[in-house]
Amino acid sequence: MKKYDTIFLDRDGTLNPDPGYINALDQFAFYDFTLQALKNLSEDGNRFCIVTNQSGIDRGKIKIDNLSEIHNYILNQFYENGIELLGIYYCPDHPDQATQFRKPGTKMFNQASEDHQIDLQRSIMIGDALSDLEAGVNLRMDTMLVLTGRGKDTQQNLGSISPTYIMQDLMDGANKLIGIR
Ligand SMILES: [Mg+2]
Repeated sequence: MKKYDTIFLDRDGTLNPDPGYINALDQFAFYDFTLQALKNLSEDGNRFCIVTNQSGIDRGKIKIDNLSEIHNYILNQFYENGIELLGIYYCPDHPDQATQFRKPGTKMFNQASEDHQIDLQRSIMIGDALSDLEAGVNLRMDTMLVLTGRGKDTQQNLGSISPTYIMQDLMDGANKLIGIR
């Protein structure tokens, strides 16, 4: 198996179903395979970083306190399962006034890299949207498209992007990276 410095994870549609603008903890749930997939990767010596666009903040559809509550829950779940999570980086920007922090911009990754001494070119980005893959390509990272969330639509609209891996879901992707298949 190729050893990555850090596995970057998108949140909505990758770790959890995405009903759109999740604004309360009771609207958030991991896919049933998510924590097991990450545990397996963790036991294989991997560490993780979540990078998520949350334009619902700027749109006034998500309250910052609620987002914090959800992210604290995620941090706790990772901790309880022994999954090393370096951090959760989110971008509140509205797409119409987006900074380079909003994926496919790369500044969330650059910030994480600075904070945690991550070698981005030896890392991988896993997500369900084109913007996830584009951010990864921009940083010369490997990329994995998962076909959960918006993944199937993304697969139809890849254009010039060719992901390093295209997998059914995060469990499938974890198995691939660990070399089970
Ligand atoms: Mg997503």
